[in-house]
Amino acid sequence: MAPRLDVIVVGGGVVGLFLGCRLAQLGLSVRVLERRTVPLSHSRAIGVHPPALERLAELGLAEAFIREGIKVTRGHAYAGTKRLGTLEFGACRPPYSFILTLPQPWTEALLRERLKTLAPDALRCGAEVSGLGSDQDGVTVRLANGESLRSRYLVAADGKESALRRLLKISFRGGRYPDTYVMGDFTDATALGHDAGLYFTRAGLVESFPLPGGVRRWVVKTPQFVARPTPEGLGQLVFERLGVRLPVETNTMLSSFGVQRFLAARFVAGRVALVGDAAHVLSPIGGQGMNLGWLGAWRLADALQDGDLAPYAAHRRSAQNAGRRAAFNTVMGRASPLAPLRDALAWSILNTPLRRTFAEVFTMRGL
Ligand SMILES: Cc1cc2nc3c(=O)[nH]c(=O)nc-3n(C[C@H](O)[C@H](O)[C@H](O)COP(=O)(O)OP(=O)(O)OC[C@H]3O[C@@H](n4cnc5c(N)ncnc54)[C@H](O)[C@@H]3O)c2cc1C
Repeated sequence: MAPRLDVIVVGGGVVGLFLGCRLAQLGLSVRVLERRTVPLSHSRAIGVHPPALERLAELGLAEAFIREGIKVTRGHAYAGTKRLGTLEFGACRPPYSFILTLPQPWTEALLRERLKTLAPDALRCGAEVSGLGSDQDGVTVRLANGESLRSRYLVAADGKESALRRLLKISFRGGRYPDTYVMGDFTDATALGHDAGLYFTRAGLVESFPLPGGVRRWVVKTPQFVARPTPEGLGQLVFERLGVRLPVETNTMLSSFGVQRFLAARFVAGRVALVGDAAHVLSPIGGQGMNLGWLGAWRLADALQDGDLAPYAAHRRSAQNAGRRAAFNTVMGRASPLAPLRDALAWSILNTPLRRTFAEVFTMRGL
């Protein structure tokens, strides 16, 4: 029997919700199946880049994002505490000449709200997909509660550990980098205002970004994975490297992460497509994973509307390019005997016309 539903999206994270909004806007019937019953609480992604803001504007969301987020127009780079130069995003093409910061749970909430307006019944929470089958006319998914649903196309937006990718036997190639970090959010006691700080220190990278509500995120490279991070431990690392004391008692979010890079061997298998972290995982240094997922979701929505998934396979090349850029950012952040060379490279990027090109690359243009 031909399915009545156009698309089922498995996974209602930031990428699945974004895709659901775009499909509903294009007039396709869509269900987004999300196994969680509670909204996201942990903030991973904070950086929203200009190409993503352009798509959010078309979804009718850019204003809300900008109202809630912080516009970062400058990032200062330091060798230790000595200023190397400033990356000006204000020189990037308008109207979004900035990187917006917004914690991922807020982003998810805005996308959920928009999807509800565009397609009130589209999102089903507490719906875990456990199996799939496909035939000439469409795809059938089985839910953990025994129910079945059919659609013309299926999209796996079920994250890095994607069960659908495994069921489709699509390999996920890549691996872990040796790099590890701790990150935490604290009341902003710096004089940086809405600027970002990037500190290349002898012991490794320290990054700091403004967040809404007078909060600042600190991301600090660690010699090894810190299984039980504490605000005091993170504060100590920042003090040792920069001489800056964090108000540790104001900590609201704290976590450790290791850096990984993975790419699915194929993004399309018959009537099924992979998108977001199910398709690609990048190093978080540079903050591109969610944005790349959105750019892919945009292309995928066009392909689904045309009833031909083949053009979406080209997004794999963009993911490879983004992966290389994120790898560059990660290597630059390492403690290395070649630090003076690295600092000289950073200085020449920031103090010559290369600065403009790098700002475009850093804000995800030209993928
Ligand atoms: C420390 C860190 C910092 C980061 N910072 C940035 C940044 O600043 N900017 C940026 O662009 N990116 C950043 N990223 C990457 C970003 O967080 C991810 O790329 C993004 O979350 C991917 O979204 P997604 O929707 O594809 O996957 P996820 O966010 O993992 O969502 C997948 C969803 O699928 C659901 N699901 C899974 N299996 C099933 C199933 N079987 N049935 C139903 N539902 C299912 C899950 O519950 C989940 O809600 C960062 C990542 C890390 C680790």
